[in-house]
Amino acid sequence: MDLRQFIYNKIREYNRISRSELAKKYKLRQASVTEVSREMIRDGIIVEGDVAASTGGRKPVFLEVNGEAFFVVAVEVSKSFMTAKVYTSEMKSVYSCQCEIDAAIDNDSFSRQLISLINDVMYDSDVPRQNFAAIGVGMSGTVDNDTGIFKGVPNLQNVYNIDLKRELEKNFGLLVVLEHDVAAILTAECAFRGIPSNDNTGVIFIDEGIGSAFNLNGAIYRGSYNGAGEFGHVSIDHDGRECYCGRKGCLEQYASTANLCKDAKVKSFDEFVNEYSSGNKQVIEIFDNSAKVILSIIDNVCSLLDLKKLIICGEFAKADDIFREFAGKQDFKYRFSFNSAECEAKNSTEIIFSNDAERSGIYGPGVLAARETFTQLGIERYV
Ligand SMILES: [Zn+2]
Repeated sequence: MDLRQFIYNKIREYNRISRSELAKKYKLRQASVTEVSREMIRDGIIVEGDVAASTGGRKPVFLEVNGEAFFVVAVEVSKSFMTAKVYTSEMKSVYSCQCEIDAAIDNDSFSRQLISLINDVMYDSDVPRQNFAAIGVGMSGTVDNDTGIFKGVPNLQNVYNIDLKRELEKNFGLLVVLEHDVAAILTAECAFRGIPSNDNTGVIFIDEGIGSAFNLNGAIYRGSYNGAGEFGHVSIDHDGRECYCGRKGCLEQYASTANLCKDAKVKSFDEFVNEYSSGNKQVIEIFDNSAKVILSIIDNVCSLLDLKKLIICGEFAKADDIFREFAGKQDFKYRFSFNSAECEAKNSTEIIFSNDAERSGIYGPGVLAARETFTQLGIERYV
């Protein structure tokens, strides 16, 4: 590890520490600490804080991480909404806005709408333009990570093959990271949970739509045509409900939070969970039927991929307690467990619910944008 990264890490670890303490604690040359910290202050990633207590002579000054080293815009393009959020470099949310996507939208209108949403969120956040460093976009659908081209998504039939990365770079003059939405979430979840990149880890995102992403043998598995992870379009009934992808019986048509709410005739998933907990028989039946299918598919995925961890996130994670309770009542030996010690002992997959309200589909693209900006500043963060 180079000295810049080392000193930065130590400043983060201690929250605030003086140059002389750093030099003394880690046997570093005072002049090197002074030079490296001067460069990091110039780059805006650390700042000088309060004056430290002194035992005599000149009073030393504390160094702190700059909580607003830069700002990023995160965008989530889901099935029917575009959401944009401004985050600080420490991933603190500043401001967000959202707009609906018309299902009949074409390439030009889609790009215009996206650009105007990003402009709005930047302007309304009151953050000066020059403080923005990057834009991260998470797209449901197919993204070509090599070219930055958005290939399309089944529910928007007139949107395909947009050179989105270049278009946004040209428009905003900022670094742009484009990623499949669930792959972005997977990266963020692993970063924040400290899961090493060589642990085989998966994410299943159950929200308005359903998707998944898998980190296998140290890399995100993308498939032959960048189409891997379409968990929501695993068919559970070939004569089942019609799906917008053109097939029948897709899991999403039964188990997405949007469809669960529709079937239960409730307005929100919070209401759905409340109705379940207060004993609404119809809601219980709807949930239990879906939970049974989800459990069975998850178990098959665990058998097939021999994962170390599988993270369930999205709005569905609000139902973590009732899902766990339902799973516990089934008379079946699962290939996974919710208990990490048990997984270690039995070499089985640990299922983790990520029910932090902040960790939605918008968080991942934000982390990717911040990580990329830090990399350009010579610092590894969110890895
Ligand atoms: Zn489908």
